[in-house]
Amino acid sequence: MQRILLVVAVLLLVWRVLAAIGKRLVTRVPGADSFSRYAPEARRRRRQWSGRANGQLEELVECAVCGTFVPAGRALDGADGRSFCSRDCRERAAGGAADAGR
Ligand SMILES: [Zn+2]
Repeated sequence: MQRILLVVAVLLLVWRVLAAIGKRLVTRVPGADSFSRYAPEARRRRRQWSGRANGQLEELVECAVCGTFVPAGRALDGADGRSFCSRDCRERAAGGAADAGR
């Protein structure tokens, strides 16, 4: 009888250990849920990425020629203080009618 109790106790111990290991594996190994955009890992990565991209929101400025909104950091400033999305647009504004006839 004592032997049976011992075996049961050992089995219980082994089961507890395996359960603990299994639980740790479940939290480490990526499952189907890890690829969800709401998974903790994905959320953390996204927050990290967006924080690195721009800690402060960058202002958008409108191109004086084509009307495209571009981040202020990427916009090109014209001679007259206007902003342009590209060199092409700036040249078009500067060249004006001269380029239009091309
Ligand atoms: Zn433009």
